[in-house]
Amino acid sequence: MTSNFAELVKEIKSCRECRGLFGFEPNPVVSGNQNAKILQISQAPSQNVHNTSKCFNDASGRKLRRGWYQIPDEDFYNDNNFYISAVGHCYPGKNPNGGDRKPPKKCADKWLKQEIKLVNSKIIVLIGCYSANYFFPNKDFSELIFDNQKIDDKLTIVLPHPSPSNQKWFKDHPDFEPKRLPEIRKIIHDVLYCPIL
Ligand code: SF4
Repeated sequence: MTSNFAELVKEIKSCRECRGLFGFEPNPVVSGNQNAKILQISQAPSQNVHNTSKCFNDASGRKLRRGWYQIPDEDFYNDNNFYISAVGHCYPGKNPNGGDRKPPKKCADKWLKQEIKLVNSKIIVLIGCYSANYFFPNKDFSELIFDNQKIDDKLTIVLPHPSPSNQKWFKDHPDFEPKRLPEIRKIIHDVLYCPIL
């Protein structure tokens, strides 16, 4: 446990604990500054993120930045705007059925609580059921999305995963895009662009 942000990021990036579990060299991917306005926590890096070491450098990221947040890529990748982390900091490999494996829970236990403590963001954004369940294990995932939440007294927003393979959830929740998403987008824009917040 470290109380120094730079030291923590260095430790995360050099972690290789899951080498045996994955069967390949882990590549922990995080980005952002300690005073980033938004702490964003998703499931785990995709294979493309693993290969490029660039957070959300995939179809999910394009949908999140351009379709949902509606912000320029340079604002998303501005380290003073977003600290980008995940329940699993490394791409975990594929399941035999082709989908990505679940992120190892030990990763969140090892790093996330320290990141939450040290990143001085104004809000937290949780993306996908793995991150939502980690912080709110007894609450319904879809209900979490339609209301503002709190972690350590900090405004917390929950989003579904923007992955193209998540179509069923969107079909089952037709109110998300026209009703809840504009509310969430306004919060994101206020935090990023309103100087008095
Ligand atoms: S997934 Fe987490 S615990 Fe495992 S090697 Fe990557 S950073 Fe370390």
